[in-house]
Amino acid sequence: MSTHRGYSKRVLVTGGAGFLGSHLCERLIEQGCEVLCVDNYFTGARSNLLKLHNHPRFELVRHDVTFPLYVEVDEIYNLACPASPVHYQHDPVQTTKTSVIGAINMLGLAKRVGAPILQASTSEIYGDPTIHPQPEEYWGNVNTIGPRSCYDEGKRCAETLFFDYNRQHKLKIKVIRIFNTYGPRMHPNDGRVVSNFIVQALKGEPITVFGEGNQTRSFCYVDDLVDGMVKFMATAPDVTGPINLGNPGEFTILELAEQVIRLTGSSSKIVHKPLPKDDPKQRQPDIAKAKALLDWEPTIPLEEGLRRTIAYFADSLK
Ligand code: NAD
Ligand code: UDP
Ligand code: UDP
Repeated sequence: MSTHRGYSKRVLVTGGAGFLGSHLCERLIEQGCEVLCVDNYFTGARSNLLKLHNHPRFELVRHDVTFPLYVEVDEIYNLACPASPVHYQHDPVQTTKTSVIGAINMLGLAKRVGAPILQASTSEIYGDPTIHPQPEEYWGNVNTIGPRSCYDEGKRCAETLFFDYNRQHKLKIKVIRIFNTYGPRMHPNDGRVVSNFIVQALKGEPITVFGEGNQTRSFCYVDDLVDGMVKFMATAPDVTGPINLGNPGEFTILELAEQVIRLTGSSSKIVHKPLPKDDPKQRQPDIAKAKALLDWEPTIPLEEGLRRTIAYFADSLK
């Protein structure tokens, strides 16, 4: 505790200039923490943190987590890693390095300073799942050598490292498996489905549904997700996870396209494009653990979250 400066906690957020990270940094500042945000700006941007730039408890450092980092902090959230398939497949070797070497460095740091560390893992751990919805006990169905493997296997190896540091070095770890999360500050060109559809609809361009559009995803609004993250860090000191965090409301991609067209009032038409290789057919979190252990569940339904996200993109595209 850095009480000599009057602040309750020094928190490190890696990947803090990204979509989820920037919302997390804002929440931690609101809670009175001192926040050190570390990012190499691969997919994030300083502009995501505009509200915090001059805040006396906020510091932003350009740093790549594949290199060691020596700082003194009380808590760590490890989010550094590109999350959209287009971005993480752009330099797949760097994606694996970020997940694996980045995890080793942040775990080494957590070990040295004795800080609890939360890992932003992913529903991609389950690959193209054969069990539906996915509980944490499911080991997954993942291709080791496909175009998504750099991300999926990197994140799986990071989970292994977290649990080995916990068993071997008694580190306090918290692993969350995030299911598709959306909201303001998603990168407009990162290729993820919610931002793609909204931007296309607002520009009156064709809505690109990959395949027939009957594959499903479950979409969580960013504020709900951030609630779950900080709650896990604050309230369950001995719980390691992994814990699924996501919204169990499941939709086909075609249903999402239709909702976005309706809510934007767009004249865009749906066009079909080829389905990417290894694209998971279905995905829905089983959140029984999060409910029982964290007393957490999402509160913002898809329609409300989409309205807020559409308002953000409509403003930022002006
Ligand atoms: P994002 O791409 O907006 O954010 C990732 C951030 O990490 C960016 O700011 C990027 O510049 C930074 N980064 C990448 N490589 C780095 C490196 N080597 N060193 C330092 N910083 C680096 O994506 P996001 O949606 O905000 O995702 C954040 C985390 O949550 C990621 O770890 C992602 O795997 C995980 N996650 C997100 C989702 C989702 O739906 N948004 C789902 C599952 C998991
Ligand atoms: N590390 C770091 N910051 C620290 C402590 C360690 O970046 O404050 C890195 C260090 O470079 C090392 C890694 O974390 O490679 C793992 O550290 P650990 O102590 O677990 O292993 P070792 O140093 O024995 O390899
Ligand atoms: N998708 C789509 N059109 C797009 C972008 C994505 O139909 O313009 C589909 C994609 O094939 C996948 C789903 O939407 O089935 C979610 O894709 P995203 O890249 O957002 O996330 P992930 O596949 O990692 O869940």
